[in-house]
Amino acid sequence: MKEICSFSLKELKNWMGENGENSFRAGQVFDWIYTKHALNFTDMSNVGKDLREKLAEQFSFPVLKLLKTQESEDLETIKFLWELPDQRRVESVLILSGDRRTVCVSCQVGCPARCAFCASGRQGLMRNLSPAEITEQVLHINHFLKEKGERVSHIVFMGMGEPLENYESVVKAIQIFHEPEGLNISQRRITVSTVGVVEGIHRLAKEELKVNLVLSLHAPNQHIRKKIIPYARKYPLEEVLMAMDEYTRLTKRDITYEYTLLAKINDHRKNAEELAKLLKDKQCTVNLIPYNPVEGLNLDRPKKETIENFRLILEDAGINTTWRYTKGKDIAAACGQLALQEAPTQNVAPEQSAAPSEKLALVNADLSQ
Ligand code: SAH
Repeated sequence: MKEICSFSLKELKNWMGENGENSFRAGQVFDWIYTKHALNFTDMSNVGKDLREKLAEQFSFPVLKLLKTQESEDLETIKFLWELPDQRRVESVLILSGDRRTVCVSCQVGCPARCAFCASGRQGLMRNLSPAEITEQVLHINHFLKEKGERVSHIVFMGMGEPLENYESVVKAIQIFHEPEGLNISQRRITVSTVGVVEGIHRLAKEELKVNLVLSLHAPNQHIRKKIIPYARKYPLEEVLMAMDEYTRLTKRDITYEYTLLAKINDHRKNAEELAKLLKDKQCTVNLIPYNPVEGLNLDRPKKETIENFRLILEDAGINTTWRYTKGKDIAAACGQLALQEAPTQNVAPEQSAAPSEKLALVNADLSQ
């Protein structure tokens, strides 16, 4: 069965045409789904009964089932756990910050990148999400916000998965998010975070999308980067940085580099100095992320003083930095934590699932413009 939230407006218009319907019906259906918050075809009252039935026969909607929400004590982050049609699970996080309502979305179940410090890739990649499985995360959270008179304002691909390894679905989801007759979220308010998949960066630079791109850098040189990020073996640092430069040139977007600070691995003075040199001539921001402990990993978060010194070295060299501590700490509001409890039989009680580990995916989310 097709998934209606995987269809762009143009595709839905084509479908209408192929099925002997007037193409303006596509706009009506889109409006019901994305702005009037319908959750089934029956409610689409200005769409004829025959067409509603045909849609219901051919399209599945919704594809995500909400299993659980968890709010942080400070009420600034809310985590949503979804069940997919094959019973696998993914999650999203809503971050409330000033006027911003940012959704951190997942794009894969698991992750192929297997970075040393990240919970999402520990079991590798299970599967890609379809466009609908991505767009519906935002759609349903928008629905949730509507009850408070609010709407999703920003989207970041910083949940589970590597967006540039599920390229088609991610690009399609971005187009649907941006659709003026749908959620109408500006491309400037959409951020993709990548581990550094060179072909994907080149490809994205040539799309008409112009979203913000963030690189998970985490090291000042190839030698250290290779130790932390297995993907660095395939995509050497120099090539990744060149691809990022090209992205800036073609899209006119500033670049953000993420740097997860791991005690005694990439947090030395000399690492900061080397990083400052590496990024000296670039129009960029470095987002410093103190490592958030993941159960079972033998890594440590640097001391506050070390982080502050690291930051000062970059700032003194004229590099703009941000450093944010975690939001949603008490609910372990990291994308990837709950969803790793795959089968329902392995499901644990909510108290247990709130392990004292969190990932800064959400903190980074504040970076999107
Ligand atoms: N695959 C994408 C999206 C991953 S999540 C990427 O690699 O960019 C977004 C950010 O959270 C990445 O920068 C990632 O490195 C960081 N992150 C993941 N686990 C973390 C942890 N335990 N502590 C701190 N940062 C973490």
